[in-house]
Amino acid sequence: MQIAKDTVVIIDYTLTDDEGQTLDSSEGREPLAYLHGAGTLIPGLESALEGHAEGEQMNVTVPPEEAYGNHQDGLKAVVSQEQFEGAPELEVGMQFQASTPDGMRVVTVVGIDGDDVTVDANHPLAGQTLNFDVTVREVRPATDEELEHGHAHDPGGQQH
Ligand code: ZN
Repeated sequence: MQIAKDTVVIIDYTLTDDEGQTLDSSEGREPLAYLHGAGTLIPGLESALEGHAEGEQMNVTVPPEEAYGNHQDGLKAVVSQEQFEGAPELEVGMQFQASTPDGMRVVTVVGIDGDDVTVDANHPLAGQTLNFDVTVREVRPATDEELEHGHAHDPGGQQH
């Protein structure tokens, strides 16, 4: 069966950046199951998988525009340490969920100067070209329930 809209696709993948450093991988974990056409994968990867079939292996290079977007200036803000009350001791590189005018976003602490904490709302992978090494393990029609929920259910059949 070929990957098309409303199929559930199960893949093994390894994600590396342009320096060849591994950022994420399904190796040693459960493979990733997703509902094709639902926009749950980054657009460049989802479109590259379209039409492929079980057992195929491919390398996909995704430019930032089709991944997490370009790095934008103006997404930095300086907030007070008090805003992080209840959080563990702050360090550069820590990530938090924060509500912004664009909804909930992950922000990264990029600087700490006394009481002033600089956070950046760019996605940590913004501006990066991503390389995926993907193996398609299984392609099957989505169930009615999966279509209704807009996501794939785990290979183990977990309901959510
Ligand atoms: Zn569900």
